[in-house]
Amino acid sequence: MQHPPLDSIRNIGIISHIDAGKTTVSERILFYTGETHKIGEVHDGEAVMDWMPQEQERGITITSTATVCRWGAWWINLIDTPGHIDFTIEVERSLRALDGAVAIFSAVEGVQPQSESVWRQADRYQVPRICFINKMDRVGADYRETLRQMEEKLGARPALLQLPVGVEASFSGVVDLIAGEFLTFSEADQGRTVERHPIPAEIAGEAMAAREELIEAAADFDDAILADFLDGTAIAAERIRAAIRKGTIACRIVPVFLGTALRNKGIQPLLDAVAAYLPSPRDIPPATGQRPDGEAVDSLPCDPVGPLCALAFKVQADEGRKLTYLRIYSGTVKAGGALWNSNRGCFEKAARLFRMHAHKREQIDEALAGDIVAAIGLKEVLTGDTLCDPAHKVLLAGLTVPEPVVALA
Ligand code: GDP
Repeated sequence: MQHPPLDSIRNIGIISHIDAGKTTVSERILFYTGETHKIGEVHDGEAVMDWMPQEQERGITITSTATVCRWGAWWINLIDTPGHIDFTIEVERSLRALDGAVAIFSAVEGVQPQSESVWRQADRYQVPRICFINKMDRVGADYRETLRQMEEKLGARPALLQLPVGVEASFSGVVDLIAGEFLTFSEADQGRTVERHPIPAEIAGEAMAAREELIEAAADFDDAILADFLDGTAIAAERIRAAIRKGTIACRIVPVFLGTALRNKGIQPLLDAVAAYLPSPRDIPPATGQRPDGEAVDSLPCDPVGPLCALAFKVQADEGRKLTYLRIYSGTVKAGGALWNSNRGCFEKAARLFRMHAHKREQIDEALAGDIVAAIGLKEVLTGDTLCDPAHKVLLAGLTVPEPVVALA
């Protein structure tokens, strides 16, 4: 299938403080979605997303890369955002292209300074978020403390959707508080198989209390849930999920998931959560812009037959050519078609279009509103430029970002 159905697209980024586990989580996501067949070990410098040589030497993620991966019916465009403090401008640029984010915290270190600054940037752009508390296997893991810090340092309202079973080295899996199941991840196949069990008796009481808290949070976004809860009427899992989704997309709550990426536990529920709680391109407010005569364009609806409007959110050198990552807000980009570059005031041609996978690029003829693709052939483009239909010239609002101030080593 060349075009993902709009409602099945999730354009997401992973944001975190350096060392919280972003690379490991990204690797696991690519593995479970079938994009890679072997899990790259971060310390060997062979992680798939970190493909720039400088990154491999320095062990940090510098550049943004968009990779598409399939999870069931979903098409997840994973946009790699840099985690290092020096690259906040790069983070801002990536945030403009995504519709939702997964924030990763370490259960040991909690909310660290760089997470705080990225979090505030995501607040500024109203990016809905879910959270993954990683490193639950490590000595000193304390997810409750991380939740407290999310409230205190970030002003966030976390909604815990899971409880851990076992602590530190004996962390064995998570209770899904909505489904009422205990999930474990088979070690034999690197966690590919998720096993479902009844909730262990020793944490049944704690799980019931945590579920009540979750239902209270959900009730803020669906009045009928509270009434049913008070009446003692059973509330279907789908209704709770729908209410949590509403609160997440409105940026009023942050669903929280737990696990250990290194030990392959908890990533698959996280992928389910990306699909369940983060928005599709249709669920977010439409982009806005300005015509050349200065008149405001209030809305560029996410519609493939609307006038074309796309953001070049990342330009990279690729074997001597420019590879431009495009977030398409409205209309359709066709390979070989003429585009107007509103920032440079010139015509451009996207000679070839690609859907970027972890290890290969798939050439496509056209890409539709809501999608993220890469193009070769745009000669004048710079990061942050608006590309549009020459017959409907528009400049996306609020997208002029300064060039990076930090030179790469
Ligand atoms: P990034 O800088 O956020 O991309 O973090 P990495 O994914 O590179 O992880 C930093 C270090 O933490 C690496 O040595 C990982 O092997 C390790 N790590 C990542 N996730 C976990 C985890 O769940 N548990 C433990 N114990 N270590 C982890």
